[in-house]
Amino acid sequence: MAGAFPPHVGFKLSTQKKYTTFTRATTIKKITTHLTIPHIGNARPSCEYNWPMTTHNINFDIYWPRIWRSIGTILSDPTEERIWRLYLHRGVYVRNRDNLAPTQVCRLNCFHPANPSPPEESMLHLVDCPIINIFWNKCLTFTYTVLGTPPIPPRAHRNAYHKAIIFGLTPATITTLLNTQTRAFLRHAWGVVYRHFTQVDTDLTTFNPHVAFLHTLLSFRAATLRLAITTAQDRHKIRYSTLPISDPTKADEALTNLLAPRDPNTDPLSHPLSLPFQTALTQAEAEAY
Ligand SMILES: [Zn+2]
Repeated sequence: MAGAFPPHVGFKLSTQKKYTTFTRATTIKKITTHLTIPHIGNARPSCEYNWPMTTHNINFDIYWPRIWRSIGTILSDPTEERIWRLYLHRGVYVRNRDNLAPTQVCRLNCFHPANPSPPEESMLHLVDCPIINIFWNKCLTFTYTVLGTPPIPPRAHRNAYHKAIIFGLTPATITTLLNTQTRAFLRHAWGVVYRHFTQVDTDLTTFNPHVAFLHTLLSFRAATLRLAITTAQDRHKIRYSTLPISDPTKADEALTNLLAPRDPNTDPLSHPLSLPFQTALTQAEAEAY
């Protein structure tokens, strides 16, 4: 009998040291580690070397373990973070990576036609481009006015700007992350702005930073409502189930500035946005169209 139904202990993959239960030994993270270690060994991601090394580089040290651990937030799923993660790895397409591209200057024509040396469309130019800058400034204003982030200096303070937008770090140190809402919001922003930027070439559209900002707010609003509804359902389950369910307090913290205070007399599935968030959305709609 014990042979037909072995006890649920004493499992480990060949790359693991300790024996544990089958379900603990075979999580997605552990299987991924098991399958990739033989190929990569101790090698680090190439972006750790390349961000400070390339011609269009950044001028501060990066504490990478903190950045890698910050991947994934309660307000952004892997699809919404996809472009930011790709950008972190220096993997998005920009013209100066493509030797066969007819031109390597910025596709948004962010320069004077008589400029003898127009700006190259580099990885860092996605943050520094004066036209995309209008978009980033609106995003940073939103993080300050709605998400309660301390003000992030404008582009003139290059390092602070790059730390926040690229890595989700505060201006003060290289190890302190911005709050969860702000990091999630900036990752939504990367997904939207890069789609609008790409469509300039693929669909021959005109890049409009105001429309891109509105679409970022809509994407972030969807994530906010998704979390609010999931949390309400979790509360319901906690009340009526004895099964272990994640504590909704963490979600409440993430939603603090995003939703209006709960009124127990209203519909539990109704989640009105906070006044600053709703005001920002209304203003963005007015500016975009
Ligand atoms: Zn540009």
